[in-house]
Amino acid sequence: MTDENKKASRKFETRTVQTGQVGGDETGAVSSPIFPSSTYRVKYPGDESGYVYSRWSNPTRQAVEEGLANLEEGSHAYAFASGLAALNGVMHLLKSGDHLVAVDDLYGGSHRQFEHLRRQYGIEITYIDGQTPENFTHAIKPNTRLFWLETPTNPLLRLVDIEAVVAIAREKKILVGVDNTFATPYLQKPLNLGADIVLHSLSKYLGGHCDLIGGALITNDSELAEKLRFSQYAVGGALGPFESWLVLRGMKTLHVRMDRHCENAAKVADFLKQSDLVEHVYYPGLDGTPLPNAMKQGGGMVSFDLKAEIEIVKQFTMATEVFVLAESLGGVESLVNHPALMTHASIPKEIRLANGITDGLIRLSVGLEHIDDLLADLRQALEKIRCTVRTA
Ligand SMILES: *Cc1c(COP(=O)(O)O)cnc(C)c1O
Repeated sequence: MTDENKKASRKFETRTVQTGQVGGDETGAVSSPIFPSSTYRVKYPGDESGYVYSRWSNPTRQAVEEGLANLEEGSHAYAFASGLAALNGVMHLLKSGDHLVAVDDLYGGSHRQFEHLRRQYGIEITYIDGQTPENFTHAIKPNTRLFWLETPTNPLLRLVDIEAVVAIAREKKILVGVDNTFATPYLQKPLNLGADIVLHSLSKYLGGHCDLIGGALITNDSELAEKLRFSQYAVGGALGPFESWLVLRGMKTLHVRMDRHCENAAKVADFLKQSDLVEHVYYPGLDGTPLPNAMKQGGGMVSFDLKAEIEIVKQFTMATEVFVLAESLGGVESLVNHPALMTHASIPKEIRLANGITDGLIRLSVGLEHIDDLLADLRQALEKIRCTVRTA
């Protein structure tokens, strides 16, 4: 067994811990060092056998890329300066006149990038509710080149059946890309379900500590890999060495963090479901529908609709003390976000409302604090707005 095969045969939890672990170098360093050098000595003019220039390749970034490929069970991974830079790498697979079908409940920044491509480069786009796979079939045109999904979606945490969508795409030779940021490879591995490309915002669970911005693309197809790599070095949005090192450090604890994120989030969802001030709670599996086999647990995100006017909803988001009012997700700390005014503010109001992102919707990134403190915090914030509702 080669070293690489031996590594790949180990359990997920062992592979996360071994991310970036170096062996065999003369220093004996257990964890991967940071290589900030922008350029590398070559043996002769034109020598590309080793490292040359850090936009092209960098040892610290390479360690992250190997780790990501390993966890997603892909053959190639490329790390980018942000999740959206990674998405832009996928978009470079398309040309003017190509058609893209995307789920309608999308990260706001992805939607903004898609709309820019539509206006500026003539990419055709159809948004559909991905919960019904047949919607992909109905949206197909002769020029359809790519299906783009998030599952669970952001912020409504809807699930898309990746295998069913892949089956539809295969017949027509359409590529399937999955933004796996919310699930992480610990809960779900889209490449094993037949997806062609997996995207991550490393800024979220993989980094895990709200201290870096990064993104990645992973694939199992070497032809596609060449094209994605081209986007990385030729367009130039590659992940820097310091951020790469932070991602390596975060990835080592992914499985432990995810277990606790999921455990806490499920309890938060149950708690919110009991409140008379809450209209609806969104959490995978909460309504009794079993999770797809491909998804191990419900994840660390919970969204809910408050039965209140927008001003009171805003007050709620400012009344929590443990949950910090902030964009983003996936860090050890709990965050509260108001999608309509924050993460999804770039989506036009009619589209936003049509997609179910109401003014009363709140999205929580449930962190690793003690569950009692999290529930007590939500309870006191709900009680505070209850008084406002009464006195108003
Ligand atoms: C944050 C996020 C992105 C964008 O990633 P950045 O690192 O912020 O550029 C894309 N997709 C999802 C689901 C996200 O949550």
